[in-house]
Formats: sequence, C-alpha cells, structure tokens
Amino acid sequence: MRMEREYDLLVVGAGLFGATYACMAHRQGKKCLVIDKRPHLGGNIYCEQREGINVHKYGAHIFHTSNKQVWEFVNSFVPFNRYTNSPLANYKGKLYNLPFNMNTFHQMWGITSPAEAAAIIEEQREKARLQMISHKGNDTPENLEEQALLLIGSDIYERLIKEYTEKQWGRKCTELPAFIIKRLPVRLVYDNNYFNDLHQGIPTGGYNRLIDGLLAGIETRTGADFFGDRNHWEGMADKIVFTGKIDEYFDYRFGKLEYRTVRFEEETLPVANYQGNAVVNYTEYEVPYTRIIEHKHFEFGTQEKTVITKEYPATWQQGDEPYYPMNDEENTALFAKYRALADKEDRVIFGGRLGEYKYYDMHQVIRRALEVTRGLST
Ligand code: FAD
Repeated sequence: MRMEREYDLLVVGAGLFGATYACMAHRQGKKCLVIDKRPHLGGNIYCEQREGINVHKYGAHIFHTSNKQVWEFVNSFVPFNRYTNSPLANYKGKLYNLPFNMNTFHQMWGITSPAEAAAIIEEQREKARLQMISHKGNDTPENLEEQALLLIGSDIYERLIKEYTEKQWGRKCTELPAFIIKRLPVRLVYDNNYFNDLHQGIPTGGYNRLIDGLLAGIETRTGADFFGDRNHWEGMADKIVFTGKIDEYFDYRFGKLEYRTVRFEEETLPVANYQGNAVVNYTEYEVPYTRIIEHKHFEFGTQEKTVITKEYPATWQQGDEPYYPMNDEENTALFAKYRALADKEDRVIFGGRLGEYKYYDMHQVIRRALEVTRGLST
C-alpha cells in the first residue's frame, strides 16, 4: 500500500532552481514545501537592506539573457530596470573599460582607430606565437598563460588578465589549464556593455521580490537543514527536489567535491558615491581583493550613504560557502560517480549549481528548472 505523505513535493533549497521548480509545480496543482538551511529564502541572489540599499549578500548578481521565455517569466514577477553592466578594471591606479573594446585600447595605447588596435593585437599575438615555437617547438597552448597570449597578446594579458586570474584561482596562470579561457572577445567598437545578451537588468526593488513572487502561495521553512533530520524530511513528500551538494546527499561516499569560495568584506561609508560604478575589478596582484562592488549603482540609488563589498577569492574548506565548482579532471570524474548514483534515485531530482555541480548563470538555472518541470505532471 502506498504511504500517504503530507506533500507532493519537498524542495530542498530556496535558491532560483528550487523556487522556479516549486513555482511551476504549484501552478500544476502540486502541494509543495520548500526548505532552506539559511535563515532566509533566495539562495545566492538574496539581498539585505542596508541604508535603504539592496546589498547583494552573496556576490553581485546581474541578470542577463537572450532567452525570451526566461525574460518574460522573470518580468512577470517583477519589472527589471535598465542597468547595463559596464565594469572597470583598475591596474596600478589606471582605469580601463571592460570588456576589451576601443575604449580599453585607447586607454592602453592612446590609439583611436580600430585598424591601429587590430594591428597592435595581431603583432603581439604573432610575437607570442613565435616565442612559443622557438621556446618549445610548437604553438599549441599548454596552459592558460600561453592560451591568453595567443588570443590577445602581452599588454592586455599582463595588465588585465594575469594577476586577476591568479587571485581568482589561487594558482599561477602557467599552472592553470588552457581550456579555462576558450575565447577572449575583442570589440573594435566603443561599447562598454559587458554582455551581448538581448536583455539585462536588476529587478526593481531587488532580487527578493523575484523570489517572493516565485514562492507566493507556497509553504516555506527557513533555518531547516535537510540533513538535520533527513528521515523526517524524506517522509514528508512523495517527491524531492534536491538543490544542495550532491556529494553530501550521498554521504561523501566517494570523497568530497571541491569548490572555490569568496570572502565578502562589507563596509558602509559616509559618502554618497564611492567609486562611480557598480563593479570595479582590481587586476594587480598587490591588491588582495578582486573586485569592489558598490551596490547602490545597480538600482541608481540616491541615498546619503553607500555600501561597498570587497571580494576575496579563497580556497574552499568544509564549512565555507561552496560558490564555484572546480571543473577540473579530478572533480569532473568524481561528480560523474555521484551522477550515476543520482540517476538511480527515482524519487529525487537533483538540480541547480550544487545538485548538478555546474556553474550556472541565473537565466540558465531558471531555464533548466523550466525544462525539468515540463514533464512534471506525467
Ligand atoms: P543557490 O542559490 O545556491 O541555492 C541553493 C540553496 O540550497 C541555498 O540557499 C542553500 O542554503 C540551500 N541548501 C543547500 N543545502 C541544503 C540543505 N542541506 N538543507 C536545506 N537547504 C540547503 N549569475 C548571473 O546570472 N549573473 C551574475 O552576475 C552572477 N553572479 C554571481 C556571483 C557569485 C559570487 C556567484 C557564486 C554566482 C553568481 N551567479 C550569477 C550565479 C547565480 O548565483 C546562480 O545561477 C544561482 O544562484 C543558482 O541558483 P541555485 O538555486 O542553483 O543555487
């Protein structure tokens, strides 16, 4: 006899994957319960109010997508503003526009025409190629440094990529695999818009409004760790959507998956405008953080004070927030073992960045949840 359970669906994790999944299931008439071990909903997109400013607690989040369905879906819960991501890079006190475009090349070389920029880049790429051939007999990139030099040349690599990447990954570029950088797009136009997507912006009033919209009418519990009382939670619903760490779900049977983490250092400052831009990257090694985020600029804030966050990438240890999966060979192979176990769990769906051990942008995680929930009622 089938056991009667209180809910059709238990969603573990109230981040974007869990919330989107629950929203779609709720619309299809399923009785859902969403739990999260954190004291709030929203996962990594959660914002905290400080001085009237929405502070992105787990790192700056900028929504961007070319997917019409995803864009209309998120806008059905909250209107998005016209924020356009145009980060700056500060290298030894000098500012450069990102992504690499004619503004960057003007700042770097004082040139004004696309032809001059293209010629300098080509000359530096060819120089790197010849040096590689004379050094090791071929021009096949064997590490990130070689790859970047072949794609972009030495000036941009040394000032804007090398030290930033080393801080980000905690390893020398010569020790990082070449595949991390597949392409380094160069724009020969004066265009500082970081994303090529058709749509981008920040939810008006902050990301919590998006999460609240997704979870409207759905029962939620915060401060509730699935592993705190696993039997209890497992007995509550017919089906489980699990968006926590997949290796933890299987009791680390094959060992622990690794991550990179970030330490966020937040400061409230008695000035209205600290850096004039939401995102400034610090690309030199001597500055220990990689970026400073000034949150008010995401929503064109006019508050008297400002809140900034410095981001310090760090090696992940048990207990730290697992932000970025390490998609190297070892971890990919380990994940494949857990994936094989997950495929055998017919009552549990694993989703999101921790459940699938995959870096997803927000639009991708929403799209994935929408795809998975299409087969919900069958
Ligand atoms: P999460 O948001 O992490 O949600 C998972 C939830 O599960 C968490 O709330 C966690 O507390 C909960 N949980 C885990 N284990 C348990 C348990 N045992 N019991 C109960 N609850 C549990 N994307 C963009 O599109 N643009 C950006 O600018 C951008 N910036 C980013 C910056 C940083 C620093 C990071 C790390 C990511 C960024 N992303 C960005 C990606 C974005 O954060 C993710 O796409 C999105 O948050 C993933 O949602 P999720 O539901 O998979 O995971």
